[in-house]
Amino acid sequence: MSEQVYGRVALIGLGLIASSMFWAIKRAGLAGEVTGYARSLETRETARRIGLCDRVCDSAREAVQDADLVVLCVPVGAMGPVMEDIAPVLKPGATVSDVGSVKRHVIEAVQPHIPEGVHFVPAHPLAGTEHSGPESGFAELFDNRWSLLVPVEGTDPAATARLRALWEGMGANVDEMDADHHDLVLAVTSHTPHLIAYTMVGVADDLRRVTDSEVIKYSAAGFRDFTRIAASDPTMWRDVFLTNKDATLEILGRFTEELFALQRAIRTGDGAHLHDYFTRTRAIRRGIIEAGQDTDAPDFGRGQKK
Ligand code: NAP
Repeated sequence: MSEQVYGRVALIGLGLIASSMFWAIKRAGLAGEVTGYARSLETRETARRIGLCDRVCDSAREAVQDADLVVLCVPVGAMGPVMEDIAPVLKPGATVSDVGSVKRHVIEAVQPHIPEGVHFVPAHPLAGTEHSGPESGFAELFDNRWSLLVPVEGTDPAATARLRALWEGMGANVDEMDADHHDLVLAVTSHTPHLIAYTMVGVADDLRRVTDSEVIKYSAAGFRDFTRIAASDPTMWRDVFLTNKDATLEILGRFTEELFALQRAIRTGDGAHLHDYFTRTRAIRRGIIEAGQDTDAPDFGRGQKK
């Protein structure tokens, strides 16, 4: 058991990330009490039924009362309004954080509502699955994954250090990063790949009508991996693209140029270009495995997880 880091933690939004945080906090005894709130009665009732949170509240304001740490775990587009709602009842000296996949937009939407005397330390755990909702979380989600802290100008270093201790206690490796850099890095490593997966599955869906369901029946590894990614939550991903517009468009532009170069190599029979390209990309996969960020099991080791 690690040491308790916060007396009371409030989780606003009770989906995959919040529920995983709750189980990870409990696993290591990192908080005295964890309260939670979700906007729908259905989610709150599910949370109560499965014991998610020590106390599930019927309003966000009630959940954050006396909390030492409030973590906004709602889609990126909902962060601003949620923050505006809870601002008047935050405890002086409390820290507000979030887990949003985009950082510049969240900072712009949330920071104006942070009251005097309350700390704001944005964060983003680089861990997830294609599942969502209160029943999808598990304590091991953050183990050996990165969690990035994105402190804003003037953030109290002690508040950042305390949040770091929480994420480390939940099993994550922690780094600090500037918001714009974060958004560009994530556009490359997560956002654009998701868009490509959505597109490929969309194309296959069109073709399915032509090939009489053979795309599904004979689905092979490449396509199956795309469908897993393309099954991710539509609201979350809509918000990611609407709020990380510039970085995603920049990376998509580069992607399109590379795709055209490969298309040309195929058309002109330039095997050397294709072989060199695929050799380079194979090395990147090896680097990810060596960094401990995936296993080289044939199913990427995902079969055992939810
Ligand atoms: P999720 O499982 O879909 O849960 C989202 C939660 O937010 C639900 O409790 C939902 O309430 C609530 N919510 C949705 N819209 C809302 C609104 N307009 N106002 C108030 N509450 C609202 O989502 P998640 O995967 O945990 O994602 C939460 C955050 O983590 C997002 O910002 C996402 O970008 C970030 N993130 C996700 C992943 C991932 O892989 N999933 C990874 C890292 C970070 P109801 O259940 O009542 O509808």
